[in-house]
Amino acid sequence: MSRPKTTMAGPVHLTAPAGEPNPSAGCGECLGIAVTRTNARSVGDYSKVSDANVALRTHLREEHGAE
Ligand SMILES: [Zn+2]
Repeated sequence: MSRPKTTMAGPVHLTAPAGEPNPSAGCGECLGIAVTRTNARSVGDYSKVSDANVALRTHLREEHGAE
């Protein structure tokens, strides 16, 4: 039996291309790191973007139990 597939818009991720960690909703520390990353990208400071990704991944792993 097949049900008609409804197309719903998924969540919109404004900042992170594939491969970058996403901040956890409602966590101020995640948000702070994500803002730093967005700001760094907006000024073309990609080494700082990379640093922010490392910091966010570490934080996600240590504080949120992510991979
Ligand atoms: Zn967090």
